[in-house]
Amino acid sequence: MYSPLDLLNYVKELKKHNLDILSSGNISLRLDANHIAIKPTGLNYDDLTLEDISVVDLQGNLILGLKASSDLDIHLKIFSERKDINCIIHTHSHYATVMSCLNLSLKVLTTLHADYFGKEILCMRYINHRKSNLGVKFIELHTNVCLLERHGTLIVDADPKKAIKSAVVIEEISKLNFHIMQLQRKISPMLEEDICSLNEYYATTYGNK
Ligand SMILES: [Zn+2]
Repeated sequence: MYSPLDLLNYVKELKKHNLDILSSGNISLRLDANHIAIKPTGLNYDDLTLEDISVVDLQGNLILGLKASSDLDIHLKIFSERKDINCIIHTHSHYATVMSCLNLSLKVLTTLHADYFGKEILCMRYINHRKSNLGVKFIELHTNVCLLERHGTLIVDADPKKAIKSAVVIEEISKLNFHIMQLQRKISPMLEEDICSLNEYYATTYGNK
């Protein structure tokens, strides 16, 4: 499984893509059956050291490092319910947040979207994540990626590298859809037949990912 050092490295990799400013957003990894590593609360990505990384058990007890992300309860809920995933990323990336504020799901308008996700990315209706556990609502969506209304994105994956890639691709798709809709609000999604065929090619043939 993964280690706190892996988390530090993935934090740095995520930072390279400039999806979040200062300390906003977060990332966590499953370490073993009962522990996760998560970015500490309120610390800038650039300032993070290995000793700072929070190691927490699934009951929420801090084992090592600094106080965990303020979104810890969301991560714990998802890790507890979704045994298939090892990484959770939450971003406030610019264009994804703009689209979420308009409560617009991301329709499949481009081959990039068809290739990588193969389906519309839903926008979860706003809930106050300090008052109720957003992780519960996320599980009910039965998805690995979604926009969060007036907030940003939530992404999970078995593979942390794929989770980071998804975060980057969602921001690019949000940017594309935003600009396309400035010019033509009523643009139709791509045909389902094309979406399926492009997605199958990307999943099975392109780059052998
Ligand atoms: Zn947030």
